[in-house]
Amino acid sequence: MTKSISCHDAGKDCEWSASAPTENELMVKIEEHVKAEHKEIELTPENVANIKTLIKEI
Ligand SMILES: [Zn+2]
Repeated sequence: MTKSISCHDAGKDCEWSASAPTENELMVKIEEHVKAEHKEIELTPENVANIKTLIKEI
């Protein structure tokens, strides 16, 4: 099972997507991307919880 996420699914005008074998590894990639490209998004516990609802298993 692979965990996957894309910014497009989050409603962002951004073509970035990522996948990883575990949610924790995927969250590391997401945090790097958000810090680099979406500085307006604060990684509060609430936002992290919302991001996790967008993670799909593929
Ligand atoms: Zn993005």
